[in-house]
Amino acid sequence: MEDYYQILGVDRKASKEEIKKAYRRLAHQYHPDKGGDGEKFKQISQAYRVLSDDKKRAEYDQVGFFGQQSAGGSGSPFGFNFGQNDFGQMFNEFDLGDLFDFAFRRESHSGRTVRGEDIQASLELDLAEVLNSQKKKISLYKQVTCSRCQGQGAEPGTDMETCSACRGRGQVHQVKQTIFGNITHYSTCPECQGTGSVPKSPCNICHGQGRVKEKVNLEIEIPAGVDNGQILRIDHQGNAGFRGQSAGDLYLKIIIKQNDQFTREGDNLISVLPITFSQAVLGDVVKFNTLSKEEIKVDIPSGTESGQVVKVRNKGIPHYSRLGRGDLYIRLQIATPKRLTKDQKDLLKKLQKEGL
Ligand SMILES: [Zn+2]
Ligand SMILES: [Zn+2]
Repeated sequence: MEDYYQILGVDRKASKEEIKKAYRRLAHQYHPDKGGDGEKFKQISQAYRVLSDDKKRAEYDQVGFFGQQSAGGSGSPFGFNFGQNDFGQMFNEFDLGDLFDFAFRRESHSGRTVRGEDIQASLELDLAEVLNSQKKKISLYKQVTCSRCQGQGAEPGTDMETCSACRGRGQVHQVKQTIFGNITHYSTCPECQGTGSVPKSPCNICHGQGRVKEKVNLEIEIPAGVDNGQILRIDHQGNAGFRGQSAGDLYLKIIIKQNDQFTREGDNLISVLPITFSQAVLGDVVKFNTLSKEEIKVDIPSGTESGQVVKVRNKGIPHYSRLGRGDLYIRLQIATPKRLTKDQKDLLKKLQKEGL
């Protein structure tokens, strides 16, 4: 996997200026005109193209696997087959236009074999669940390797034979006459999907496909700090490939349920703590349960205004894929009592006379 930050030799939190500097230095060093390594120069330029663009960089940080190209290719330009499963609709709903453009560049090369499709699913989490990394179980329908033929596509004990459609070459071509002359168009052989061979006697279960659709249960490690809408890529958990070829990937969209008590803003948490008028005036120390159910003591300074915010460091959400965590902001809100005992009323009337 190519790591653009590593290529440019900068920190993941590097500023735009730092990235620019690193790029200039490396581009100078590796420029082919100056006898540098052309391949390396290309990598540097690609890394800079993504990291110098705020939007592309944010997408790269979220998906985190740019530049990785599979040897095979998937039929659709994005490697996704929309509408093929129940999650298709969900996935269409959010705009990933640009992201797809350069993140899912899996070109279909003529004659190359076709790997399994990427699939997508979603996972709902409670806000408190993102505090720690954890294993979550999900079940989904996908193509898995046929157990009868072990993905070969042939009935057990029978052989494969050379594909007659492409004569074993894995690709077929078509010649088109145009005003510019004959143009030959090569494409993956539809009979053998580029493998060059076909089963003499196709498997009874998968009908020669080497894969079957089944409900599978997966256990997936969800890193701490994932955010709502984030997409995790899980390698090789997509559809099994045609006749034993490598599987696609699974893209898991994280959906975080609303929490009644805490609102997330970035990696910070915001909560409201009701206090009484006397606590606000005189000050107090009160107990408060954080999102992780840890009991902390909150200092209410004397003379607190309603809406004043107390910051508690490091009690927010852990940062995703880096150390540290956000902070907790507690908004102190003075609650006006609605029901009073006679004594309380009398005391308040006294206060009123005192001008409070
Ligand atoms: Zn089979
Ligand atoms: Zn063929």
